[in-house]
Amino acid sequence: MTKLRTGILAALAILLIGMLAWMVLAQLREHADNRSDPERDQCISNLALLKESTQMWWELEHKPPGAVPTPKELDRFVRGRSLEGKGYDLLVCPRGGSYLLRSTEEVPECSYGVENPASGHHLTIATAP
Ligand SMILES: [Zn+2]
Repeated sequence: MTKLRTGILAALAILLIGMLAWMVLAQLREHADNRSDPERDQCISNLALLKESTQMWWELEHKPPGAVPTPKELDRFVRGRSLEGKGYDLLVCPRGGSYLLRSTEEVPECSYGVENPASGHHLTIATAP
């Protein structure tokens, strides 16, 4: 009788350990997925560049608060890259989204990120104007 109970307890313990291990592994895998997304990282770095360029455009061109640049106006501020693609390295989202320019009070957006809020194609840290 005690042998049977010990057996059941052992089986339960093994089951519990197995479940815990599985949960930890699932958690780790989810974490890894969230971290390594080169396309998302590239998009966020593009958005940061656009945010910075918008700030430079706004200051150097003496624009009024709330002014929004056109892709053409921003081209000379995006360090040899372009939103329009005339002999430059085109600044595009690796997932095919297009960039929506905003004023210095907001953050530029990726159309892919707008359509897929869980994708992480967002610039979350807004630098103060
Ligand atoms: Zn994007």
